[in-house]
Amino acid sequence: MNLLNFSEESFIEQLQRRFPAPSPLLGIGDDCAIIPQKGKEAWLVTTDSLAEGTHFLPKTLSAYDLGYKSAMVNLSDIAAMGGTPAFAFLSLGLPAKQEALLAPFLDGLERAFKEEGVVLLGGDTVATRSDLFINLTVMGRAPLARIKRRASGKVGDLICVDGPLGDSAAGLQLLLESGRGDERLLAAHQRPYAHVQEGLFLSHSKAVRGMMDLSDGLATDLPKLCRACACGARIDLENLPLSEPFVRFCLERERDPLTLACEGGEEYCLLFTVEPSALERLQQRFVKRFDRPFWPIGHLTAEPGVLTYLEGARHSLALHPFQHFT
Ligand code: ADP
Ligand code: MG
Repeated sequence: MNLLNFSEESFIEQLQRRFPAPSPLLGIGDDCAIIPQKGKEAWLVTTDSLAEGTHFLPKTLSAYDLGYKSAMVNLSDIAAMGGTPAFAFLSLGLPAKQEALLAPFLDGLERAFKEEGVVLLGGDTVATRSDLFINLTVMGRAPLARIKRRASGKVGDLICVDGPLGDSAAGLQLLLESGRGDERLLAAHQRPYAHVQEGLFLSHSKAVRGMMDLSDGLATDLPKLCRACACGARIDLENLPLSEPFVRFCLERERDPLTLACEGGEEYCLLFTVEPSALERLQQRFVKRFDRPFWPIGHLTAEPGVLTYLEGARHSLALHPFQHFT
């Protein structure tokens, strides 16, 4: 999850050098760690933290939504690998006099765990002199052969997303401005859902190759997928899926919807690459299953770097990495 964008990437590289992967499967860098088991199964393990002041403010998230979202943020990483969530561990840094938050926080967490069949197995609780801090670790399972990794994309693959871009960032802006506005935008920020069923569905198709979830926005996350695949990308901006309330939000503020959609952040939908010849059939099956499409927005290229095009012509955007409160 987004920490300080300029240094997080190089810090992770440092970790990878200092703690080298003992095997190609076991190592740092994907949405989940893969721990192969005897037989053909693997455990998937992910951990994510939410810090007050960095990821949420009391005015942007109720305690209930914070519980729900803490779960979904982690479940989204399991979804991104094509896994089935199973177990969780919860650690809380709780400031003095904030005990009243606990009951609604646990209500939200419980609801998310019930929806996705997750069992809480442990954790830790400490008093802190700073703000509220939540860490959740989630374990999921998947057959080894179906696990989707960021690095499996190939040059020529179509880059796809399975949800609209920018809604959550717009919802956050509304919450910071007034707390009121389009319900769909507010819900996208406060009650995101992890695309677990979608991830499982896509994991059954060999034509789906590289996959990750969008947590820091397309402009930050797509380059991560590209680096993992050792290739670049071309994005055709006219194909970005934008919701009606999002476009209205942008027009009202005279902001460029394409720029905001690329910057986005906290969509928690899936970003994946598909072998082009399989697209049409996969699309049809996806629509039949989920009653909505996914959207091809570009393709992977041999040249490194992400280039943006509009109606066939180069169209550069001045992009800023997603940060919650700047
Ligand atoms: P995501 O947004 O999918 O949770 P991140 O971008 O946060 O992924 O992290 C990328 C990779 O770096 C993941 O494999 C994660 O486990 C690893 N990582 C991030 N921070 C640390 C850390 N402090 N120690 C070890 N691994 C880390
Ligand atoms: Mg992720």
